[in-house]
Amino acid sequence: MQFIDNTKIKLVSGRGGNGMVAWRREKYVDKGGPAGGDGGNGGDVYLVADEGLSTLLDFKFRSVFKAENGENGGIKGMHGKCAKHLYIKVPLGTVVTDDKTGSVIGNLTEAGQTVLIAKGGRGGRGNARFATPQKRAPQYCEPGEPGIERLVRLELKLISDIGLLGMPNAGKSTFISVVSSAKPKIANYPFTTLVPNLGVVKKPNGDGFVIADIPGLIEGASEGVGLGYEFLRHVERCRFLIHIVDITQDNPLENFKIINNELKKHSEALAERYQIVVLNKIDAVTEERKTEVLKQFEEYLPDKKIFTMSAVTKQNVEELMYFVSEKVDEIERPEIEVHVEEDTGAYDNDDSHFEIFKLDKNTYLIQGGKLKRLASVTDARNPEQIIRLQHIMTAMGVFDALKTKGIKNGDTLIIDHLELVHYDDSLWDEGNGY
Ligand code: GDP
Ligand code: MG
Repeated sequence: MQFIDNTKIKLVSGRGGNGMVAWRREKYVDKGGPAGGDGGNGGDVYLVADEGLSTLLDFKFRSVFKAENGENGGIKGMHGKCAKHLYIKVPLGTVVTDDKTGSVIGNLTEAGQTVLIAKGGRGGRGNARFATPQKRAPQYCEPGEPGIERLVRLELKLISDIGLLGMPNAGKSTFISVVSSAKPKIANYPFTTLVPNLGVVKKPNGDGFVIADIPGLIEGASEGVGLGYEFLRHVERCRFLIHIVDITQDNPLENFKIINNELKKHSEALAERYQIVVLNKIDAVTEERKTEVLKQFEEYLPDKKIFTMSAVTKQNVEELMYFVSEKVDEIERPEIEVHVEEDTGAYDNDDSHFEIFKLDKNTYLIQGGKLKRLASVTDARNPEQIIRLQHIMTAMGVFDALKTKGIKNGDTLIIDHLELVHYDDSLWDEGNGY
């Protein structure tokens, strides 16, 4: 079984529907009025924790998900329908990271838990909304807001009950294949295991538990490439470790110590976890050698029962697994703290991105990025706040873009709920005014 535990997906919320420009014409109404309805909101995208999933394998086959767009506004003040939200199932224990910023934005640990990843675009307002006592017949409406596109990394942490520790070629893969239904790659050389091997062991009562190889702990370290350390995260939450020692080596106890030192360097927490020590390959040594090595280990670890086995002939494997099953019930899975950061990315597009729509001859709508958020906290009656907004818009290049679109003094700028009249000294100089 190939195990996908780390993947990137693209999530896109729906675009808001466009507002409508329409007019009321009714027989018994004196004067018609603007009656264009608002567009519906685009669908949000959520991740939802689902008990039925145990891997991120599904995302290998599909990695782009898009919520539906909102419906456009209609005539007679009819609002467009809001799109349905999109819920994407992920397994319990999925940690979600914003790929762009690297910040953790979700930790889905309970069934049904959801995280908003991308808010759907707001529907544009129809012309009915723009009518004021001064301007009774607005000719324009708003387009819907674009959806938000995000690249997120999913990581699955809550994986194995037991982590397998040992030198390359100690027999870890063989052990997993013998006690579980998994079929990991086995070869008689280091660097065998580049993906973590997982095996599910069925207990007689039907329950299962998961054993994961910790490949590369020594392999990478000795090569100076650090290969494999990232795999340690698979076992960060394991209940305990099984340390497999190759008894055919010259100095098994020394190897055992090397591995434990290596482990300690990377993760104190894992190094302190309970270990079952197993001397493997007893089929390949003499009885005397076996007794000798066992004695060395018993002297080094006086309080521990040391197991011996042959993964190949399966000698003593059943007895070991009986003990292992008991420990699985006995030892709790440690909680790992994940610090989830505040996430504004679900609401904002790329911060300095904006779009300009020319709604009619004298009216420009500016949308996108941080503008909506800024406008929503700007009080149009407060000159200081308007100046601040203007500074930010200048820095974003909004006014330069408006100039190339041919804006004139006296034109109207619409930013969210704000309607501002454009005035720029340099436009007068260029004789560009009205
Ligand atoms: P890993 O690197 O720890 O995953 O080790 P593998 O499971 O790939 O085994 C490495 C080599 O040791 C393979 O050739 C296995 O056949 C061999 N091996 C594993 N367990 C035993 C055993 O109990 N007895 C003997 N004689 N060989 C074994
Ligand atoms: Mg292996």
